[in-house]
Amino acid sequence: MTVARTLLEFDDSYARAVPSLSLPWTAAAFPAPRLLALNEELADELGADPAALREPAGVALLVGQGLPEGTTPVAQAYSGHQFGHYQPRLGDGRALLLGEVLDRAGRRRDVHLKGSGRTPFARGGDGKAAVGPMLREYLIGEAMHALGIPTTRALAVVATGEAVEREQGPLPGAVLCRVAASHLRVGTFQFAAASGDRAALRALADHAIARHHPAAADAAEPHLELFRRVVHAQAELVARWMLVGFVHGVLNTDNTTISGESIDYGPCAFMDAHDPATVFSSIDHRGRYAYGNQPAIVQWNLARLGETLLPLIDDDTDAAVAAATAVLHEFPAVYERHHQAGMAAKLGLAEPDPQLVADLLELLHAQRVDHTGFFRALAAGDARALFTDPAPFDAWAARRDALLPADRGAVAAAMNRVNPIYVPRNHRVEEALTAATAGDLDPFRRLLQAVSAPFTERVGLAGYTTPAPGDAAPYVTYCGT
Ligand code: AMP
Ligand code: MG
Repeated sequence: MTVARTLLEFDDSYARAVPSLSLPWTAAAFPAPRLLALNEELADELGADPAALREPAGVALLVGQGLPEGTTPVAQAYSGHQFGHYQPRLGDGRALLLGEVLDRAGRRRDVHLKGSGRTPFARGGDGKAAVGPMLREYLIGEAMHALGIPTTRALAVVATGEAVEREQGPLPGAVLCRVAASHLRVGTFQFAAASGDRAALRALADHAIARHHPAAADAAEPHLELFRRVVHAQAELVARWMLVGFVHGVLNTDNTTISGESIDYGPCAFMDAHDPATVFSSIDHRGRYAYGNQPAIVQWNLARLGETLLPLIDDDTDAAVAAATAVLHEFPAVYERHHQAGMAAKLGLAEPDPQLVADLLELLHAQRVDHTGFFRALAAGDARALFTDPAPFDAWAARRDALLPADRGAVAAAMNRVNPIYVPRNHRVEEALTAATAGDLDPFRRLLQAVSAPFTERVGLAGYTTPAPGDAAPYVTYCGT
């Protein structure tokens, strides 16, 4: 008797709910698809058999070929402010939504391809992606997930067997298969609002409510409540980024989700020395998306979302603006609450202490102390060695000491459950991607293993805990992926 080996089956509730916001499209055919990385845990969550996904029919599916009968992939339309400049027509230029899967827990998840060929939104782009950047997205997504931060995740990266032309010359091509709560972005609402089709905007908002913030449906003003819930979800998300020293790098409105998940790991990186001005992206000349600017920028993006919702909030524009503005102004307090609660946990304190936190961050910045390393060293009792001038640290540590519960062993253990020892260190990410591009996946797999259990110290992984040597060149990330 043969047992049916399950692949994925897709629904298309988004395309049906708002047909004007996506275009049916087909993935490009690739000469020799070869699986580079498969997320077995995620495959299993989706109800797919990992072994079946490794077979030729499974690998084909992961690049959008041989889809189940009746599946129609779509390119999603969106607009967006890129570095503050409005682009009315972005959209999936090199990506496709294969469809939605109901996972084992009953949650609706998008399955989406990146690098699957040009679409009508491609503008000047080639529609393709290279192995390095797609593995980077896999790696960072898994690291974020393991850190407990809401995120899209990679299901697989498949090498296409084709070369893609980039500034550096020809690079091996790849397709990323990505899973997300949805791909609804602030930019999706901007596109719908700009179309002037009020019914489509309403359908989009109602779809977002049903899918991500269902309790908003019961509120007196569901669309205002949707806005509030997105504002709160994003405030919590950016607080979590700040706690781990994550710099997204390209916080355009099309990279800000309605679900509250982090999305699009392009020029992102984890900060080593604590510095609010940290920027890695080669194109972010003015530091718009610097580490310390992220809360303000996300709130700015949410203001753009609020604008799109005005016609649904109140027919009287002044009243709609007043209501949406009041909700937007909830952002700083929600952010602060999550950030302070998170910092208290990182420091082993029972109660938030904003002044102690502010003084610490200033101290870490002034002496360029490694953000990730500091909190583990603090738990271990040897943070002092990280300061070139230890006197101000000693004074700060005495204040903290006075606030600590008596059982110091329990404090240290609790701190180590929230402070990662392994984050994707920039030089390690580069090393892994360079090797993978040259055909050696071992460094990628080892790094993935380290960051997939970021709180558990393991023997043999000490090389993943420290920043690049002091004489290394400043780390720079690039967008053209
Ligand atoms: P991203 O930087 O991935 O958030 O992409 C921003 C926009 O540029 C989106 O509309 C993408 O679809 C589009 N884009 C990025 N790279 C390419 C490419 N190689 N070909 C076509 N479109 C692209
Ligand atoms: Mg994007």
